Amino acid sequence: MPELPEVQTVCDTLAYQIKDAKIVDIRILFDKIIEGDIDEFKKKLIGQHFRSFRRRGKYLLIEMDDITFVSHLRMEGKYYIFDKDDPPLKHDHVIFYLEDGRALHYNDVRKFGRMYLIEKRRVYRRFRDLGPEPFWDSFDLSYCKSYLSKRKAPIKEVLLDQSFVAGIGNIYADEILFACKIHPLTKADTLNDAQIRDIIKKTRRILSKAIRAGGTTIRSYTSSLGVTGLFQMSLRAHDQKNCQTCGAKIRKIKVAGRGTYYCPNCQKESG
Ligand SMILES: [Zn+2]
Repeated sequence: MPELPEVQTVCDTLAYQIKDAKIVDIRILFDKIIEGDIDEFKKKLIGQHFRSFRRRGKYLLIEMDDITFVSHLRMEGKYYIFDKDDPPLKHDHVIFYLEDGRALHYNDVRKFGRMYLIEKRRVYRRFRDLGPEPFWDSFDLSYCKSYLSKRKAPIKEVLLDQSFVAGIGNIYADEILFACKIHPLTKADTLNDAQIRDIIKKTRRILSKAIRAGGTTIRSYTSSLGVTGLFQMSLRAHDQKNCQTCGAKIRKIKVAGRGTYYCPNCQKESG
């Protein structure tokens, strides 16, 4: 599933490829990808240019001339650029035809991704329940301490909670806790200041490393340029067999229904 680094990679590659391109037609092959009225979606986007691209959590926010276009890739959504005459691939659900003769294809094997339009003045409101971005100054010790002190849930579960911090998913949550030597089942409200500081620091370090590597490629995720990420080569805990630090066998458990990997030797249970 694309997490913050992968969505950032899609954002950057789309900006590189289609900034200022104009949509001249849209073909929708699977209606449910679009939230809201299909005809309205087409009508409001045709004739608009892709002006700027940013990410909020795992959402891709594209500023068009008059409206904000939101794309949530969810499990396996991805974009490809083709020539306008190229036929759709299997699982292509939405095609945006561009004035310059290219076409932007949205492909989604699982069909969980969603797209919708929001008026620009409503964007802030729509995303105000999302927690801070990991790279924002507001994601600091005092914020984390006050949030975590109210949560008795395992820290792994809280890291996945988008209202705590935006953009972290199952893979990076495992990596962050491994790097901090914190057991995934540790209750959030028992973490001390040093551990919380470490979580903030390692979160930023791991995510920026992944962004630099072009996002992790697990399963079918690829960026819009067809580039596959390299960071999965350097995963230390998630989906790994042995701990690269101590050699112990990496253990897999379920936390909040998600497969969770940790080293029983480096990440000792406490509290
Ligand atoms: Zn270990």
